[in-house]
Amino acid sequence: MPDRGESESRKLLRRLREAMAGESAGQERLDRITTLIAESMGTEVCSIYLFRDRETLELCATEGLKPEAVHQTRLRLGEGLVGRVGRSGRIINTENAPALPGFRYMPETGEEAYTSFLGVPIQRLGETLGVLVVQSREPRGFTADEVYALEVVAMVLAEMAELGAFVGEGAAMTARHQQPVTLRGTIGQEGVAMGHVWLHEPRVVVANPIADDPDREAERLREAVDRLRVGVDRMLDGAAGGDAEQLQVLEAYRMFANSPGWLRRMEESVASGLSAEAAVEKEQSSARARLTQVSDHYLRDRLHDLDDLSNRLLRLLTGQGKETGAQMPADPILIARNIGPAELLDYGRALRGVVLEEGSVGSHAAIVARALAIPLVIHAERITTEALNGDPIAVDGEQGIVHLRPDDSIAAAFRDKIAMQAEAQERYASIRDKPAETLCGTTIGMHMNAGLMADLPSLAGSGAEGVGLFRTELQFLLRNKMPRRSELSALYARIMQAAQGKRVVFRTLDIGSDKVLPYMTAVDEPNPALGWRAIRVGLDKPGVLRMQLQALVRAANGGPLSVMFPFIAQYEEYVAARAEMDKALARERILGHPLPSSLDVGAMLETPSLAFAPRRFFEEVEFLSIGGNDLKQFFFAADRENELVRRRYDTLNVSFLTFIEQIVRRCEETGTPLSFCGEDAGRPVEALCLAAMGIRLLSMRPASIGPVKHLLRRAHLGEVRTVIEGARERGEQSVRAAVMEYLKR
Ligand code: PEP
Ligand code: MG
Repeated sequence: MPDRGESESRKLLRRLREAMAGESAGQERLDRITTLIAESMGTEVCSIYLFRDRETLELCATEGLKPEAVHQTRLRLGEGLVGRVGRSGRIINTENAPALPGFRYMPETGEEAYTSFLGVPIQRLGETLGVLVVQSREPRGFTADEVYALEVVAMVLAEMAELGAFVGEGAAMTARHQQPVTLRGTIGQEGVAMGHVWLHEPRVVVANPIADDPDREAERLREAVDRLRVGVDRMLDGAAGGDAEQLQVLEAYRMFANSPGWLRRMEESVASGLSAEAAVEKEQSSARARLTQVSDHYLRDRLHDLDDLSNRLLRLLTGQGKETGAQMPADPILIARNIGPAELLDYGRALRGVVLEEGSVGSHAAIVARALAIPLVIHAERITTEALNGDPIAVDGEQGIVHLRPDDSIAAAFRDKIAMQAEAQERYASIRDKPAETLCGTTIGMHMNAGLMADLPSLAGSGAEGVGLFRTELQFLLRNKMPRRSELSALYARIMQAAQGKRVVFRTLDIGSDKVLPYMTAVDEPNPALGWRAIRVGLDKPGVLRMQLQALVRAANGGPLSVMFPFIAQYEEYVAARAEMDKALARERILGHPLPSSLDVGAMLETPSLAFAPRRFFEEVEFLSIGGNDLKQFFFAADRENELVRRRYDTLNVSFLTFIEQIVRRCEETGTPLSFCGEDAGRPVEALCLAAMGIRLLSMRPASIGPVKHLLRRAHLGEVRTVIEGARERGEQSVRAAVMEYLKR
């Protein structure tokens, strides 16, 4: 084997480029490439295996193995050495392949004659597209330089595959990004949508992975890295004294941007013949591959930082910005690895749906998507590498499934589903201004949950009689610094005006647990859902609560005001919070501001303990609202954000309904107005059962008001109650089956 210095690998790449030039078909190109690599590496065999589906690799071209085996030999992921490289994404380099565990002999290829084996994954941005293999008869360990050279070639092959250079006949040689793909994620926000892909971060296209002039490429790389470093320093200067988390990210950027190892690896790639862009992408690809193997949060975050930095560098090198000139489709479905709440809000209701590769159910982006009622699927792995701008896409937020480039049958099924929903919405429009009066003559109040100014138009559109829960934390989450009192009071005033006299219940800041403010020092808690959150923070550090209460009193400007404290677990907390309200009133009076014409101060019942509070609590509190999302997670000890358990316990579980019934009874004894504002209020069957247990006011997503009202107006609460009691007497775990049976009848 000749010494494989820089020039050898460069020569190989140059010849590779020649082999790929021209109009030849994909198969011909692959054939030429295998011949060329075998020749340059001095091996008898060179083969290229590509994935024909996610589980199967197919021999697509070979020099040295039997030609009849091409497109016939297939290996499942993990099968044989090739399958192992395909699955692990790691190189196998051995002098004695038959001796390795997992070696699989394939007679049709005639490979028994070869003992040395070097297989490298063909990877692009962390995704394995195939395996490149060289084999030789003589036992021979491939040197580090040879391995590196083959890796560089594999990288170029991956780029060429992305650009469509190997399209030919058969499943393994179809063009990339044209096949239908179904991805399973997690439900972020329910709803079904169809539209076209809009990438939040358009991918940079590397049109020429091979360097024409390596010295020039090295210079381009260094210049771009210098500009990157200056840019990062500038960002750091600009962020000084600001948000700690942002600073941490920027510090990580700076560390990577100045890391000699990072630059050296890219320089080596350029020296071996890659263009500067391809060298960056090679680094990025290995960082992404590492990401799939790392579960530690901190390390994952750092690998993401490195990925972001590579993107920045690629943009500097290619001049391709976020603005690609592409037109946002009329029915955009936003695709992003992750997105901040403010950015998502900027897109606003223009979006039909959102699909995130990461995110979490409780992330700020998810909260915004929920507030905007946009279907959201999170944890849709690979979506950012699979989707191209403009691809048709269907999002099923009810099941957490994404169909990218759906085939006709799936697209038709989605169209039907959407049409049915539209029809139902029309039906609901006809009852919009009618009360939710049941067949037995009970009227259930229909309020909506909100959190943004943008939600207020829904008050008229949905027929909601008021806002039963205004989540004030969104205003805090969307900013990168604490909002000022004047800003808040102006906003609250606008909300009250937009409500045109309808009641708006403002819930004071509910942070902690899943909702962490970027500008407040994060407290590391072993169990945040059970930790320092909501009113606990409000009472321990009352500055923000006081400011917020003052802002609310000012916003009411002499009109009515309703305020609710979140997460009250015991009477004394309510007393303390109420005292803060009284202090705010006193302060405003002294300052000469008008006081509210009427004031309701209530509490959210989100912990089982409050249901057992002393009677005087129920007498003193002006209203109570059951926060079913939290109450349920504590009642069943099942984290509402943990996919493994969050759907394990049914709201219609007899124990839970019995508990609700007890709360209703306690409120009835003292005449305390009671409502229910968790997500279950917006689920028709759940809402019906809650009403049957005695809840008379429900607050839900605006879009749910129609379906819930529609069902309530056709139901007889007494009968539902009898059905529930029957199930309870029979000792059933959940009343769902019995109620569904009744509804069918
Ligand atoms: C609840 O817990 O049910 C609730 C309405 O509050 P949030 O979902 O904002 O915690
Ligand atoms: Mg809650």
